[in-house]
Amino acid sequence: MKKYILSVDQGTTSTRAILFDHEGHICSKAQREVECLFPKPGWVEANALAIWVSVIDVVNEVLVQENVTMNSVDSIGITNQRETTIIWDKNTGLPVYNAIVWQSRQSADICDKYEKDKEFIHEKTGLLINPYFSASKIRFILDHIPNGQERAEKGELLFGTVDSWIIYKMTNGLVHATDVSNASRTMLYNINTNEWDDELLKLFNVPKCMLPEVLPSSYCYGTASFFSSQVSICGVAGDQQAALFGQTCFEVGESKNTYGTGCFMLLNTGDKPVLSKKGLLTTVAWKINDKVTYALEGSVFVGGAVVQWLRDQMRMLHEASESEKMALEVKDTNGMYFVPAFVGLGTPYWDDDARGSAFGMTRGTTRNHFVRACLEAIAYQCKDVFEVMKDETKVVLKNLKVDGGATHNKFLMQFQSDILHTEIKLPQCLETTALGVAYLAGLASGYYKDLEEIKSIHCYQAIYKPEMNEKEVEEKYAGWKKAIEATRQF
Ligand code: ADP
Repeated sequence: MKKYILSVDQGTTSTRAILFDHEGHICSKAQREVECLFPKPGWVEANALAIWVSVIDVVNEVLVQENVTMNSVDSIGITNQRETTIIWDKNTGLPVYNAIVWQSRQSADICDKYEKDKEFIHEKTGLLINPYFSASKIRFILDHIPNGQERAEKGELLFGTVDSWIIYKMTNGLVHATDVSNASRTMLYNINTNEWDDELLKLFNVPKCMLPEVLPSSYCYGTASFFSSQVSICGVAGDQQAALFGQTCFEVGESKNTYGTGCFMLLNTGDKPVLSKKGLLTTVAWKINDKVTYALEGSVFVGGAVVQWLRDQMRMLHEASESEKMALEVKDTNGMYFVPAFVGLGTPYWDDDARGSAFGMTRGTTRNHFVRACLEAIAYQCKDVFEVMKDETKVVLKNLKVDGGATHNKFLMQFQSDILHTEIKLPQCLETTALGVAYLAGLASGYYKDLEEIKSIHCYQAIYKPEMNEKEVEEKYAGWKKAIEATRQF
């Protein structure tokens, strides 16, 4: 019988299930939107039970589409929006508060109190004090539900990121676990010792008994009882780390960049965590057998979103895809730079106050120049992250593997390759997040023999090679740096 790996990809706005065959081809795919709730300005929550129901729905649908049952599934991989925090009642299995989504700012005041501990926290977790991470969200929930702290201390409440919640529900409450990559985003996990950190737990006053067991990313977590069949959950990883794995960035110096609404770049730094002084996050990429692999992570807040802005606010385009043709109508931006700092600047500037700005326009500037400057800005921002990674690791970055919606833009990909002076590789399967946990699951179940076998089936639809001469790159990038400086001074 043909066997598949089932990946569940639980994202911020939707849940997807994909059936992959042995070659990593997508055989069927199902998706459900998940509603985000905005109870107050800056707060983002979701109904945790609705998340679980969406998982059941997509799993059901993906099997029906392929006309198979769970008996055809070799194993399950789970990947998820990271940091999002759920606390539930151990006896009823019901959430005691909505899931607090990673983007939510509702625990910002709590984070302010820990500003003085930022060095201590950074050394242990590789993270910067920010409401994104789970610790302050757990604190928020325990402080906002009746007798929260007391119930947690009595062992009545359980905490999990979305992976743990799905595992718990799939195994009928038998398994309360998470993987290292998700644990490393909670701000309670020590990435040096690879265990929950007692000092951090004390600092945030989080009882250890509510935390999930931390397991490797490729490992048999337990049996999911689904539609009267039993299938093992064998791969678990946070979305960005799963994408790094799905891009087969198995070696030190291999990196991936996702061009979605924002951009997320991760670099495999090998078996030791590298702490950054310039705002990159240090994170666990995955653990396979006893071997932990680490990554550095940088983010750009506005990536593909600048193209949405050109379409929806500026009405310069009807479709995002038109931007490619318009950019190619002109030979350059005619000296124009655009800095899309709509919500501040991410790595390496971490400037919340910066706002979008345009420079160097003349009477000769056209819509095409403007659109091109916006696309180039995506590439320049990613170069800023890439340069910091090179600088801090002294690792030779071999190439950049890419995914996400904006990789459809061939102009952007070629310009990115030129400006980084690095080869850009676009994989055949763009669902790299789901593919990553399919690979992790298949490795643990024996569906795949080893990493070599995975590399041998992984293929690319396009490879972009740098064409621009280095002098031109330097001149253009120097202009970008000037534009950034001016933006920050405004
Ligand atoms: P997310 O997962 O963050 O929602 P996606 O990976 O689905 O993002 O990518 C969507 C983003 O990609 C949007 O911001 C959109 O503007 C951008 N995008 C899609 N197609 C193109 C294109 N051809 N050129 C440039 N940007 C594009």
